[in-house]
Amino acid sequence: MNPSSAWEITSTRALPTPTTSYRGADADDVSDREGAAEWRLGCASADVTDCCSGTSANATWSEVTLPAVSDNPYRLQRTVVPERYELVLEPDLASATFAGTVVIELSVAEADEEIVLNAIELDITSVSVDGDDVAFTLQPDLERIVVHRAVAPGRSVLRFGFTGTLNDKLRGWYRSTYTDSDGDEHVIAATQMQATDCRRGFPCFDEPDFKAVFDVTLVVEPELLAVSNGAEVSRSVRDDGKHVVRFAETMPMSTYLVAFVVGPLEVTEPVMVPRLGGGDIPLRIVHLPGKAHLTAFGLDVGAFALGWYQDYYGIAYPTDKCDMLALPDFAAGAMENLGCITYRENLLLVDTTTSTQAEQQVLADVVTHELAHMWFGDLVTMSWWNGIWLNEAFATFMEVACCDAYRPDWKRWAAFSLERSVAFETDALVATRSVEFPVEAPDDCQGMFDVLTYQKGGALLRMLQQYLGEEQFQRGVQRYLTTHAYGNTETSDLWDAIESVNPGTPVRRLMDSWIWQPGFPLIGARLEGDTLVLSQQRFAFDEEGLGDAAATLFVVPLHVRNGADEMKVLIEADELRLQLLHPDQPVVVNAGAHGFVRVAYDEALRSRLTGGAITSLSVVERYSLVDDAWNALVAGRLGAPELLEFLEGFGDERDLAVWQAIGIALRGLGRLVEGDARTAFQGRVSALTGPALASLGWEPADGEDDLTGKLRGLLVSTHSILGNDIAAQQRCREIVVTPAGVHPELVAAATNVVAAVGDETDYERYVQQWQQAATPQEQLRYLYALAEFPSAELVLRTCALAMSDQVRTQNAPFVLNRCIANRDHGEQAWAFVRQHWTEANERFPESTIIYMVDSVKLLTTDAVSADVQSFFAEHAIPQSGKTLSQVLERQRVNTALRVRQSSRIAASLLSS
Ligand SMILES: [Zn+2]
Repeated sequence: MNPSSAWEITSTRALPTPTTSYRGADADDVSDREGAAEWRLGCASADVTDCCSGTSANATWSEVTLPAVSDNPYRLQRTVVPERYELVLEPDLASATFAGTVVIELSVAEADEEIVLNAIELDITSVSVDGDDVAFTLQPDLERIVVHRAVAPGRSVLRFGFTGTLNDKLRGWYRSTYTDSDGDEHVIAATQMQATDCRRGFPCFDEPDFKAVFDVTLVVEPELLAVSNGAEVSRSVRDDGKHVVRFAETMPMSTYLVAFVVGPLEVTEPVMVPRLGGGDIPLRIVHLPGKAHLTAFGLDVGAFALGWYQDYYGIAYPTDKCDMLALPDFAAGAMENLGCITYRENLLLVDTTTSTQAEQQVLADVVTHELAHMWFGDLVTMSWWNGIWLNEAFATFMEVACCDAYRPDWKRWAAFSLERSVAFETDALVATRSVEFPVEAPDDCQGMFDVLTYQKGGALLRMLQQYLGEEQFQRGVQRYLTTHAYGNTETSDLWDAIESVNPGTPVRRLMDSWIWQPGFPLIGARLEGDTLVLSQQRFAFDEEGLGDAAATLFVVPLHVRNGADEMKVLIEADELRLQLLHPDQPVVVNAGAHGFVRVAYDEALRSRLTGGAITSLSVVERYSLVDDAWNALVAGRLGAPELLEFLEGFGDERDLAVWQAIGIALRGLGRLVEGDARTAFQGRVSALTGPALASLGWEPADGEDDLTGKLRGLLVSTHSILGNDIAAQQRCREIVVTPAGVHPELVAAATNVVAAVGDETDYERYVQQWQQAATPQEQLRYLYALAEFPSAELVLRTCALAMSDQVRTQNAPFVLNRCIANRDHGEQAWAFVRQHWTEANERFPESTIIYMVDSVKLLTTDAVSADVQSFFAEHAIPQSGKTLSQVLERQRVNTALRVRQSSRIAASLLSS
């Protein structure tokens, strides 16, 4: 089945061969910033009409030498190394303060005049070294404390007393609140240390390669629950009645994984998961009182994943217990603290009888993602934050693999196509960045938590896995984890481990070309007689903006299918020629769509894949065909009327993923039309989606699979909103009024449809349903729907609501994002955000500011586009500078697209 010897391959201009292991993009790229500790919010909103033109060109393999640790003002010296922390913390929830002591056992490698470590926003009350009180100096700019005491090689003990405030910024040790059914407010003290906020909880050596053992004790009011990384090992009662709760020592781990949570919380009975090699792993969920009935699904996913990962990695779960905590306030999505994983409520608690497949899948994804980290990230950890991309890319890859094993019927790898497309969209910008790049300051590592780290990184690992073979890849991962357990690594250590079990495959060279160069290639495919000619050039929406970077070459592993035969090829030059075995039969260039590339076929090859032959393509191949066509429009390689006609060829399509790609393209086209042309467009959409919906029917069949139900929901909303079908809208209204007994997918779809066409009465009902929602999923569904209403006044009411205390600051930025994305009143929402800019920046978590505004890329009228561009020229988002430049570029691309195509498609719609 792999007649590689029969395929004759020749290639031309070769890639430059990398000579050093440390390669980076231009220094400009170093200023990248952004995101939350776990990027998984905002991604799945598929309203991605867009694109623009570019600025900073930087693309080839220019080498950057990282400064040595000793030259970087943000790095600590390695003369003194912590081995063990003994931490005692006493929070006072009522006053939102805490007091603590930490004893740090040090190994001194070299004599030094002083000891320097990290601390910020703490009041240091005492410092001693080996029992002697000593002087100290705080350096707030560097987030450090300098202890003035000379140390000699050997061992020393450092002790600090300190107090601090439980802050409201959702980082370090922070305050989360909730109101119970009697209207009483309660406080929870929770932690989020990644990336560099452990120093806000206690003085520490806050860099990931200072691994140490943590012995944590919490002193708490007796009625409160206290959890930390280790299992509770002792509890005593102090004279004042407080409980002194001590936890088991951790394995050696990084400071960013430390966690301690105290509050009026409940915990489930443990599920005992067999531990590889014997014994059990107790798995529990910690939640707000009264929410135990929402924990079963999370526990089921967690138990499955713990077993699956032990098999996959061939290594037992690395610590004594596994607690998963659902917190009411959490800036990121979830955080992989060893044995004490924290989540947003909607990512851990769910009622499977009322939730959609998407709401369940995102939960399963996040649980499997975090558990993947217990080994990859926690047991083996990057040496420094430049390696965080691999940590996150790998967990993203594994979450899909594990979720696919958990629910094969969800076709998780097909769904991954959609996530990969989000990465493509950013990576097609001139202002994209290389996946890995040098990181110096703490702010720089915030910039790593973005779509390129998670989705592109995950897609690159999938590409490598499919090229090597699943078992060969797995053996490489096992080799890596076994070799580096309890240690720290560079990215290249993984490639070397995989290469060592796959001799002869240039794993490192291949991956270096992808992670150290921004962008990805467009693979051109054309026929010359019986020869298939494959070429590569970097893909960009704004090709001119790329400049010399357009010539970037990648080492591209691809599967090529010709007729029934498939082979693996490696394109290492700008061109590769293949003698076809079946010159007259269809050729699929990126078979399986695992390569992180787009494909442009010549007319002869394209015509063999469309029409009746389309059924010979797999789901992801059909998905990619549609997705490539939509992106060709944005890049100016295809016209809008031609794209619409192309999409209309998919009327017989019945697969969810393909319809998702069609939906994205239709929404994009729908933003190009107004007035009569918009009415005509709605008619064309209705004619396309109507028959598909009719053949599926509104009533779910007995035993129907989840994805069919999800497809029905998608078709209902597309047909009702983009197709403006009045009868379908009316049916949705009936569902919203009387949802009892209706399938959750239909309820969710109808909720969106009614919002999109709703009036003030509907709005009032939604506000009430949001406030009374029984589950986190329903709560978000109604809250976000408030942004969809077709009235400027109602959209502005939603904006004001987001700015009020009624909406949690973890959610408000996402509500405003949706308001700006409103098809008809986004401009008013933007004006609101613009007006409240300072207030928003003060109130919302830093990492979420960029998510609040990234939908401005959808605003494409000349005046508003110019306003957005000039506003951000004056108002930086320093923690997300790179992402902001990408959003602005995409807005320019989208504006150019509207200018280029809106009258063309209008003319075409009105003439037909
Ligand atoms: Zn992660």
